[in-house]
Amino acid sequence: MVFLLSVAALSAVYLVVARLERLPALRFRALSSPRPYLRTDLVWYGLAIAATAMSVFVFRPQLAALQPPPLRDAVASLPRVLQLLLAIVVFDFVSFLVHVGLHRSDVLWNVHKVHHSTRELDGFATTRTHPIENLLRFVPGQAVLFVVGMPVGIVAAAVAIAAIYGVSNHSNLRTNLAWLEGVVITPRLHRSHHVPATTPHNYGAIFSIWDRVLGTLVRRDTGPQDRFGVPGEVDSYPQRFAVAVGYPLVQIRQQRARRLAGAR
Ligand SMILES: [Zn+2]
Ligand SMILES: [Zn+2]
Repeated sequence: MVFLLSVAALSAVYLVVARLERLPALRFRALSSPRPYLRTDLVWYGLAIAATAMSVFVFRPQLAALQPPPLRDAVASLPRVLQLLLAIVVFDFVSFLVHVGLHRSDVLWNVHKVHHSTRELDGFATTRTHPIENLLRFVPGQAVLFVVGMPVGIVAAAVAIAAIYGVSNHSNLRTNLAWLEGVVITPRLHRSHHVPATTPHNYGAIFSIWDRVLGTLVRRDTGPQDRFGVPGEVDSYPQRFAVAVGYPLVQIRQQRARRLAGAR
């Protein structure tokens, strides 16, 4: 029931953001109309929901059993608001580490390229994410939350808030929130992450503090000439779902073959 409510809330946020980010007064850029690759991103959306359902119904019950009683009792004594805030911070930190790993591991980068392949940024681009990445992002964060003794309801709420925040990060909204960027990620900061020249920056999803510590925070406007896409493969990366879903494996195989040929 909570899962269905979260999906309904996320879908409602998608629709509201899709309306707002097209209004001339609020938009960052004029978006193409009709939206390119709408069907492709609808399939990615469905797949993201399926992967999330798997982490909720298959992994979460297993992970919930990880709660060690002493920690669980300590966390249980905290007020709910503090539990939720702590859960969001911890989940976001794990998500940040996973995101850095997706960029710095040669193999995982092939999987994460799917997310970076979108050439236009709008809220709906959020769930253009390979299911492997989806599990990598959602399972470890929840595991850590259960290990520190967070109740299931708080874990579910923290994950839903992170997902909804992600939609705002990808939106085409022109925000004036530079004053907040020392603490939280804004659409402007995440936009830079999708511009190839600044892709190895702004890995954070909710808090920008982690990027400040790692020295990867950049605070700049995306120029009108800047394009979004996979560094070095902006025009060549497949856009259609049927090709893109298997493309990480294709690229991993090609890279392995090249390495083997080079070693001979
Ligand atoms: Zn990335
Ligand atoms: Zn993104």
